[in-house]
Amino acid sequence: MPDVSTLVESLRGASVIDLSQPLEEHMPHFPTHSKFFRNLWGSYWHGGRSLNYQITMNEHNGTHVDAPAHFISDAKPHAHVTIENVSLNRLMGRGARLDCRAMKEADYVSKDFVTEWEVKHGALAAGDIVTFNFGWSTYWALRPNDQRYTTDWPGVGMDAAEYLIERAVAAIGVDTLSPDPPAALAARPIHPVVLEKQVLIVENLTNLEQLPDFFLFLALPLKIRGGSGSPHPRRGHYVAHGVPSSPALQAFYCASMTSSPFSTRMAVTAWGSSIWRSILPSSMETGIGTLPIWTSAGTSRTT
Ligand SMILES: [Zn+2]
Repeated sequence: MPDVSTLVESLRGASVIDLSQPLEEHMPHFPTHSKFFRNLWGSYWHGGRSLNYQITMNEHNGTHVDAPAHFISDAKPHAHVTIENVSLNRLMGRGARLDCRAMKEADYVSKDFVTEWEVKHGALAAGDIVTFNFGWSTYWALRPNDQRYTTDWPGVGMDAAEYLIERAVAAIGVDTLSPDPPAALAARPIHPVVLEKQVLIVENLTNLEQLPDFFLFLALPLKIRGGSGSPHPRRGHYVAHGVPSSPALQAFYCASMTSSPFSTRMAVTAWGSSIWRSILPSSMETGIGTLPIWTSAGTSRTT
């Protein structure tokens, strides 16, 4: 185990490749999931002191991790693990990148494909994060040009999934919406099989072609209590674990993860300033009472 300064020195010298897609409106999303929205919450352009946005999103928008609880219900309490209880060690470790760019829609990675890759490139080990580069991030495009990305894609076959479970890998990652293409989702998907064994799934990766065969993989999902998955906070206001870096941001975080009046009240209490109150949008009126609200003209009025 190297000391901290040696570790920091090697990390400084490392080339860091961001494997996440930018979060933005109109980005591809899984057809049965809700979309990503970003709303201006306050700004210096409208008389406020600072600029900030509210985001409303699905846990499974963009590049993210599926927690076991995504498919495994609490009928199996040992396996029903939500995202805040996933050990971060499972998302920090040796990554492997398998080049699957020759595969097309409806093709599956097989166990033979994986074992042949191991003969040429090196054996997979327990705790590895195994990524499959289908080249599908090339088709990532904003709606309505997202059809190629969201209609069909290649996947990871059941025999490959069972083999990776046997090898005790920590996670599998893909540059598609899911390791299960639509046909597999309708028949026998690998999602419940690998998640029950606590093998995590990372979806919508990008830039995999820039990686060597083996590398250091690092993902820090948002710590959403009871969450079935989490977007990666690669950029923006969050620090490790997705713990917001200040009470104000914590309020923002609570408010943006759910639109219930309860969390809105929490946000008001936590922030507690008149500036916050003056920029509450009209949609947040329920349960708060009479407050000044923001209007489209950029001025505040009182209800
Ligand atoms: Zn997911």
